[in-house]
Amino acid sequence: MTRQAPAAPSRLDFATELTRWEYAAAPETAQVEIAARYGHFIGGEFVAPAGGGGHFASINPATEQPLCEVAQGSDADVDAAVRAARDALPAWAGLPGKERAKYLYRIARRIQERARELAVLETMDGGKPIRESRDVDIPLAAAHFFYHAGWADKLEFAFPGRRTDGTPVPPVQPVGVCGQIIPWNFPLLMAAWKLAPALACGNTCVLKPAETTPLTALRLAEICLEVGLPRGVVNVVTGDGRTGAAIVNHPGIDKIAFTGSTEVGKKIAAAAAGTDKRLTLELGGKSPNIIFEDASIDQAVEGIIEGIYFNQGHVCCAGSRLFVQESVLEEVVEKLRIRMASLRVGDPLDKNTDVGAINSKQQLATIRRYVEAGVAEGARLHEVNGRPLPDRGYWCRPSFFTGVQPSHVVAREEIFGPVLAVMSFRTPEEAITRANNTPYGLAAGVWTDKGSKIFEIARHLKAGVVWLNTYNKFDPASPFGGFKESGFGREGGLQGLRGYVRI
Ligand code: NAP
Ligand code: MG
Repeated sequence: MTRQAPAAPSRLDFATELTRWEYAAAPETAQVEIAARYGHFIGGEFVAPAGGGGHFASINPATEQPLCEVAQGSDADVDAAVRAARDALPAWAGLPGKERAKYLYRIARRIQERARELAVLETMDGGKPIRESRDVDIPLAAAHFFYHAGWADKLEFAFPGRRTDGTPVPPVQPVGVCGQIIPWNFPLLMAAWKLAPALACGNTCVLKPAETTPLTALRLAEICLEVGLPRGVVNVVTGDGRTGAAIVNHPGIDKIAFTGSTEVGKKIAAAAAGTDKRLTLELGGKSPNIIFEDASIDQAVEGIIEGIYFNQGHVCCAGSRLFVQESVLEEVVEKLRIRMASLRVGDPLDKNTDVGAINSKQQLATIRRYVEAGVAEGARLHEVNGRPLPDRGYWCRPSFFTGVQPSHVVAREEIFGPVLAVMSFRTPEEAITRANNTPYGLAAGVWTDKGSKIFEIARHLKAGVVWLNTYNKFDPASPFGGFKESGFGREGGLQGLRGYVRI
């Protein structure tokens, strides 16, 4: 197959024109340039899609305005990307860890240097409040590269081994070419979660961002160019689920790392069964947030807000099932109502916005269906935030349900929106039983002032992460991942490296 390589490796080669977006809501103004059309990033350059995949628009969900066109990755594009990754593998894997580390440090530094631009781009493409992209997504993405840069030359300490005769085992080996498929809720951060550990361990990658939020992954590809990352070590192929499936099914892929819905995760697990592909799955959740009567209620209410309305509730570990001890239920609900009424819903580029736009029209329709189902099943809907919403764009007022039964659909299924199901319990045992009564097991929150209770409850919760008197806090040193239908494998920490080495 021949591929038309552009003269200079830049996204601009595919720009029919460049739009400069002025962003004036931050303390200072910032400018973000978006090309009219993007190609894939394969073998160290931006290339036009092969195989007739064509292009599709990525839109700003807060305005419904198309931002640019991105390429729909075909089987031929995925094949080219896998070949590029395979070609780059021996040299990259053979590089001393301390040399690989330098590239990861450089990527981390470049993310910091371009932080403002990346934050604006993330917010424009995905709808999340600029305060979150600026203070959470982008700094954490940089932190993931810094953290994993630190591991690159210490892998033999992370995975020490001896043969039975006492001689040391050979250097830690990478798995190979990794196919990495990510969702739209934390686009750059999920790209960092996938790429940083893979690269640290000497793997090469083919990354597919979600259809609705490809822009920061493409900018990260530019950063790979800027830091001189060897060609083919990171490849980015854009497209929809078909592109993801082409990656999963490609025989040249050694490992699949997927973050997304449980439904797609099951399909991927079925496709990988019977092959020698390694697989890690980070899937959905319906996480419990448990408030005991001895908790600091004001703090807990902040934690409830953080747990479910952060990123419009588009969070796999969102605290979407609230369990409140009966004696404080009324107080918690009242304080929640007051706090929710103060949330600012609207323009994601305004730094005072708390709740931004829903990521896509399709996701908005899904959330609405769940809200209707909750009402139809007899739960009581509280939509206390009556501020006017913008005319255009995809908006959903934050809300919560009371009078929820465990059998109600809003208590069982992941809504992935700013909708909370409030329930009560009497005893710690009941709280544990009800919290664990779900096919998921990604995260949980516990609020109490009693230290002994904290550890007792945490020990019994079947969740990959348990937050105590806080919620939705992340750190690259802390492994993240699920139990049950929330998937398997861990990302972050020493445990996260295991998915990327042959031990
Ligand atoms: P999704 O539909 O499963 O999509 C995830 C990714 O997979 C996207 O890039 C998607 O492409 C791609 N894809 C779709 N069908 C595919 C197929 N048959 N084979 C291979 N790839 C395919 O999930 P989503 O709606 O984007 O994200 C929301 C879900 O992700 C929620 O359930 C949430 O809980 C979960 N999530 C989990 C974590 C975690 O760490 N556990 C983190 C974030 C999100 P398109 O974008 O084009 O559809
Ligand atoms: Mg978009």
